[in-house]
Amino acid sequence: MSFASRAREEIAQRSLQKDCCVRAAAYGFACFAKYFDKGGLVLQTEQPHTVQLARELFARCGVQGDVLEKQRPSGVLYEFNIRAPEQVARMHELFGTTGSETSLQIDPALIRCQTCVSAYIGAAFLCSGTVTDPQKEYNLEFLTARTNLARDFEALLAEHEFAPHRTRRNGVNLVYVKNSANLERLLRFMGAAGAAEEIHAQKAFKQVRNQTNRQTNCDTANLGKTARANAQTLRAIRYLQENDALETLPEVLQQAAAVRLQYPDLSLTALCGCFDPAVSKSGLSHRMKKLEALADALRQRMEKGQEAEP
Ligand SMILES: [Zn+2]
Repeated sequence: MSFASRAREEIAQRSLQKDCCVRAAAYGFACFAKYFDKGGLVLQTEQPHTVQLARELFARCGVQGDVLEKQRPSGVLYEFNIRAPEQVARMHELFGTTGSETSLQIDPALIRCQTCVSAYIGAAFLCSGTVTDPQKEYNLEFLTARTNLARDFEALLAEHEFAPHRTRRNGVNLVYVKNSANLERLLRFMGAAGAAEEIHAQKAFKQVRNQTNRQTNCDTANLGKTARANAQTLRAIRYLQENDALETLPEVLQQAAAVRLQYPDLSLTALCGCFDPAVSKSGLSHRMKKLEALADALRQRMEKGQEAEP
């Protein structure tokens, strides 16, 4: 089962107690249904529990509808509809609508309490929403052909600080939430606590992985730094060696050069342990810098000498 299906199943299983919330959920189904007009209501989905829930909620409001199953090559399409004229009239009475409205907008009088809000949004999600698997990306969206409804719905989500965005794709309005924290909160708000928990765990996992990656990058960067520092010292020592200058240096510097040549890849810290008696890192660093400075001075003298020659 996909992540979206798991979320829908959880939302569909949620139980609503108060009449206002049951009506708000039924209203959510109506607003985001395929048809909601003078002729009645038609809601189509691939989720059997969504149509069962729609039938149950409308029945609790005193409106009877029918559930149909339509076989299609891609699978079963479930339909909930309210078509009997007497039931259609009751439905419009319930919502204070006529079915002849030129555009559908959210009637705030039908959303009375905080649970009403979550019941309405949850029903909208069951009808027209989807959520991407958090392993791929964070995205939860609602689709509707009704532009004014999309605008109102975006405002409703914004009012509850889910930071929604709205756009149009192929002539359809899209209201979506991308931020992972808001997405997690919205799933929980709609009644999909399990799906929210999955997002939470996924995020924690990603965080640990990113931290590990950062750590590895740091180690690699340090390794690069060590290699560059070593190469510079080694170049200096070899230069001194090639010009027979190494043996003229003080004993401690000769010894430092010899150990460095013997272990070219060791970090300075590790190299300290190769001395007997051991030397401090700062002491050794100082000797290496001294060798580099001596090599530089020698190079400059040699270059000047070459220029002076006729
Ligand atoms: Zn309520």
